Amino acid sequence: MSQLPLPFLTGRASATDGRGARSALPEEARTSPRLAEALRLKAAPEDRARMASELSLRLSRLLHEPAAVELTDNAWTMVSYRRVAGLLRFRLHLMFCAADELVLRAVAGFTGRARRQHGRTIDAFIREHRALIKAAPQRAQQSLATRGRVHDLADIFASLNGQHFEGQVAARIGWGRRGPGGRRRSIKMGVYFHEQKLIRIHPALDDERVPRHFVELVVFHEMLHQVIPPRLDEVGRRCVHGREFRAAERKFPGYERARAWEKAHLHLLLHKRQ
Ligand SMILES: [Zn+2]
Repeated sequence: MSQLPLPFLTGRASATDGRGARSALPEEARTSPRLAEALRLKAAPEDRARMASELSLRLSRLLHEPAAVELTDNAWTMVSYRRVAGLLRFRLHLMFCAADELVLRAVAGFTGRARRQHGRTIDAFIREHRALIKAAPQRAQQSLATRGRVHDLADIFASLNGQHFEGQVAARIGWGRRGPGGRRRSIKMGVYFHEQKLIRIHPALDDERVPRHFVELVVFHEMLHQVIPPRLDEVGRRCVHGREFRAAERKFPGYERARAWEKAHLHLLLHKRQ
């Protein structure tokens, strides 16, 4: 699936300025009938199907192939599409009800070659209409286990934050849940959820055979995701571990040592029974 995230919402600034700024209505809401329609749909979900089929029709015409649109009130991904059985399925934020011909052409074009250029047009449209994006859902704060049997994630996080990020990384951290045991072919050591500002570390790392310096690199990596958020590359793809990210990761003092350990001992993590 291809998706266009929101570069302007992934930056550090959004950590502090987001909510209030997004609640104000844009000036043009009073003058644009389409925008008024998009706003009305937020309140009246039953009309979405009608608006979605109108957009499907417009996109099908532009693309000369069948397209289907589902409208969402997603807080994070504004545009995504995939091909399913010869049909282009779009998921578009409700704001696209207000899209004029130019923007809709960009949405259509985003599925083709000139993604970069179309991505820019779409991005500008999203910026203009960001007041329509609901604040990211405030999930019930899950209780997070930070103290493992062997490693204490809160302690690791705090010391990395102080040593390498001037205490600026604002995230919660916890051990992931244990999955089914057995052999694995690969293991995702950690994951960072931008929307929730949450880091989860794979519980297989909570093992006396896994040195703290290795866990530190994994946590550092996930913290870096907040500092260097994903961006769109030249062809409009979401770039998570870009050049800047990799360069910053390699500057971590324990990088070589941890990588060497990983190479030599990864089998411990993969074959371990949980
Ligand atoms: Zn990563």
